[in-house]
Amino acid sequence: MSSYPNTADAAAQTLDDAPCQPLAVLGREVEVPLVSGEKVVYAALDYAASAPALQRVWDDVAAYAPYYGSVHRGAGYLSQLSTDLFEQSRATVADFLDLREDDQVVFTRATTDSLNLLAGAVPADTRVYAFETEHHASLLPWRGRGLDVHYLRAPRSPEQAVAALEAALAESGQGPKLVCVTGASNVTGEIWPVRELAETAHRHGARIVLDAAQLAPHHPVSVRELDVDWVAFSGHKLYAPFGAGVLAGRGDWLDAAEPYLAGGGASRTVAREADGSVAVEWHRGPARHEAGSPNVIGAYAIASACRALREAGFDSLVARERQLIARLRAGLAAIPEVRVLTLFGEDHPRVGVLSFVVRGWNSSHFSAALSAEYGIGVRDGLFCAHPLVRTLLGGEQSEPSECGAPEASLPGERSLNAIRVSFGAGTPDEHVDRFVAAVRELVTQGAQWAYRTEGGRCVPDTRR
Ligand code: PMP
Repeated sequence: MSSYPNTADAAAQTLDDAPCQPLAVLGREVEVPLVSGEKVVYAALDYAASAPALQRVWDDVAAYAPYYGSVHRGAGYLSQLSTDLFEQSRATVADFLDLREDDQVVFTRATTDSLNLLAGAVPADTRVYAFETEHHASLLPWRGRGLDVHYLRAPRSPEQAVAALEAALAESGQGPKLVCVTGASNVTGEIWPVRELAETAHRHGARIVLDAAQLAPHHPVSVRELDVDWVAFSGHKLYAPFGAGVLAGRGDWLDAAEPYLAGGGASRTVAREADGSVAVEWHRGPARHEAGSPNVIGAYAIASACRALREAGFDSLVARERQLIARLRAGLAAIPEVRVLTLFGEDHPRVGVLSFVVRGWNSSHFSAALSAEYGIGVRDGLFCAHPLVRTLLGGEQSEPSECGAPEASLPGERSLNAIRVSFGAGTPDEHVDRFVAAVRELVTQGAQWAYRTEGGRCVPDTRR
C-alpha cells in the first residue's frame, strides 16, 4: 500500500511494511573530540541541512570516477560513456519522481538554484503565491523580477492552508499564476497538503511548484499523483552531496524563457551577423538551462541515491523513520522544559525534522553543549525560515543574544532562536536515544563548561 503523506489527513494512513535497518552512510564510525578530551562516535543529527552520503552512492561514484570524461562535448570513448551516464541519470530521476511523459529534468546546483531558475522563467506579470512559512529559497526568488508576489499568512492547519490559497486565488483574476509550496517544513518537519493545494491551484488556472528539499529524502514524490507542475530538490539532502540538484516538470515556460546561464551547451548555433552582432539559437529542453560543463558526478550521485532509496523500499524507510520520530517525541515529552515548535499540532505527520526550545536556555548555548560535551551535531538558529520561526517562537524577535548570556537576560520565557534535530535513512536508534539522554542531562544538571561567543559561534571557554 502507498505511504503517500501528502494529503491533509495523512495521519490516517497505515503502513504494511516493516521498518528496515538503517542504510549504510559515510561517517557512521567517525569519532570526534569532546571538550573534556575524550572521543565519541559522532551523532549526525542535522540531516535537514546536509545528509551524509549513502555508502552506495559513494561506491557508485568511486566506480565511475576512473571513467570520468566530458559530457556532450567529446568524441572519445570516456566522453561518450560519461554523456550516456549523465542522460541515464536524468531518466532515473524522471522515474524516481514519476514524471509525466513530456516533463523535463534539469540538473542544477541545488533547490535554491532550481527555484531561482524557475523564477527567471516565469512569464512577465505572473502572480506568485507563497506562504510566509516557506524556506527562504522558496520565499525569495520571486522578488525583484517584476512579478506580482503575494505572501499568505502562516496557516494553523492544513485545512486553513488550502482555504487561504482558495481565497487568494478566487480574487486573482486572469493571467498566469504560480503557487510555490514546500512539501515538508525544514523547521517543524510537518508535511503539507500538497495534493490539495495543487488541486486548488489548478482549479483556479494556477500552476504549482513543489519545494521537495525536505520531502524527497523521506518520502516518495510522485509528480503525477500530486499533480504538481514542477518539483525541486537537492542532492546533498538526498544522500548525494556532490553539488547537484534538480528542477523537474513542465517544459513550456522553461523553453520559452531566456537560458538561465548563457554559454556553451545551451546554444544550438551561434553565428556572426553581417552587422557584426552575434545571433544565437538556443536549445530547447533541459540543455537550454544547463550551460557550461555539466556536473556529471553530481547527477550520477543523485541517480544512485534514487536507486538506493527505491531498492531499500520507501515504505520500510518511512516506517522506520516513524519509529524514530515516535521515540524522539516520547523522550522529549518527558522533559517539561522542552517545547516542540509546531504549526499544525504535535500529532500532525512529519518527516524526521523537529525544532524545539528549552525553557531558560539560549538555543545556541544548548546546541554548543550538545556538540562539545556529547558529540551530537544539531543546528540552532532561525533555519533560513525567519518569518516561520519567529511566528512559532511567539512574535518578532531581536537578534540572538550572546550564547553565554545568563538566562535571566533573556526576555521573559521567550527564546530568540530554536534548536533543530533531524535524521533520516542512515540514523541508528542509538543516536536518537543518546540525543534524548543528553537533552535530559543538560536540562537537569546544566552544562559542565562555561561558554562564550567567538566569531559569531558559541564555543566552550577553554581559556583557563
Ligand atoms: N527548501 C527547503 C525546505 C530547505 O530545507 C532547503 C535547505 N535547508 C532549501 C530549500 C534550500 O536548499 P539548498 O540549500 O540545497 O539550495
